[in-house]
Amino acid sequence: MSSVLVTGIGELVSNDPQHGGPLGLVQDAAVVVDGRRVAWTGPASQAPAADTAYDVGGRAVLPGFVDSHSHLLFAGDRAAEFAARMAGQRYDGGGIRTTVAATRAASDEQLTANLVRHLGEMRRQGTTTVEVKSGYGLTVADEARALALAARLTPETTFLGAHVVPPEYADDPAGYVELVTGPMLEACAPHARWVDAFCERGAFDVDQARAVLTAGAEAGLRGRLHANQLGPGPGVQLACELGLAAVDHCTFLEDADVAALASSGTVATLLPGVEFSTRSPYPDARALLDAGVRVALATDCNPGSSYTSSMPFCIAVAVREMGMTPAEAVHAATSGGAAALARDDVGHLRVGARADLVVLDAPSHLHLAYRPGVPLVGQVLGSDWAGPLE
Ligand SMILES: [Zn+2]
Repeated sequence: MSSVLVTGIGELVSNDPQHGGPLGLVQDAAVVVDGRRVAWTGPASQAPAADTAYDVGGRAVLPGFVDSHSHLLFAGDRAAEFAARMAGQRYDGGGIRTTVAATRAASDEQLTANLVRHLGEMRRQGTTTVEVKSGYGLTVADEARALALAARLTPETTFLGAHVVPPEYADDPAGYVELVTGPMLEACAPHARWVDAFCERGAFDVDQARAVLTAGAEAGLRGRLHANQLGPGPGVQLACELGLAAVDHCTFLEDADVAALASSGTVATLLPGVEFSTRSPYPDARALLDAGVRVALATDCNPGSSYTSSMPFCIAVAVREMGMTPAEAVHAATSGGAAALARDDVGHLRVGARADLVVLDAPSHLHLAYRPGVPLVGQVLGSDWAGPLE
């Protein structure tokens, strides 16, 4: 594959500290892409020659968004549940079982078509790396099927058998944890990179979550965790103690949780689409950033609690409602997501990075929060799952 000089970049978000600030902004910039990698970034006036050139006409370019938390292997629709919530009903996670029934009944073709449709939605909104969880099958065969289907489209697959206790184990949650840590894990591990659990009242307690994460680690899977979404709890501390890559939600945190996150290096992944869609209080991103915690933003795209696939939407909400600056939010949606997935080849445009470039129909990254709800992603060049640089 030949090299391409991408030029006419009004503002480049490189996330390269060499260029200054957390976003490594370069004005009047150029990027050289060689094959599928970034070979050079800097001021256009100093750009080296390349085989071909592509002028983006003064627009802003940033790394593709890294959405480190989604649940896209599902069937069915829960719009009525959303409407009921907006009419005053409280969210307690119980609707997950509705999606489990629909997902079990769906064919491989239906599940794949649904996944491809959502990944396409994400890509059109600038997301080039996507983590996808299982968790709506909750039998050995259905969980393994979900992960095998997802693994065809993304390397970032997560085994979430410990999402909720399925109805057939309602009277025997301990038996279900044995299934998850035994035969289900064995069937799923070949198709997964990560293991996850929903550590929350009404789902899995801290000892059950620890058992799932420990068994997953023994099977070669790295850990991540859903915790402290619906109320305070021990999940965040568990994630930090186990040195997980990320702990997600972090909506209800005590000071000790923030301190543990700051000292452990575990990424706090904030999912503002959930609070938006469940009309709940937002996590305090400002407190986390001020304490030195590494923060990521992700969509948590799922049919129940957050049915948005849009990272720009999450950036806008994080800025408006969670005390983040636009620069912090863009950094969390790119570099933060990459850290949450323990990836050093995405989330930035330093030399050697995968050439996932988002061209905004705007002069600056500021417009992502300044113009909420406006489809500003003009072009997406390169991708993990959709072929070579176009
Ligand atoms: Zn989730």
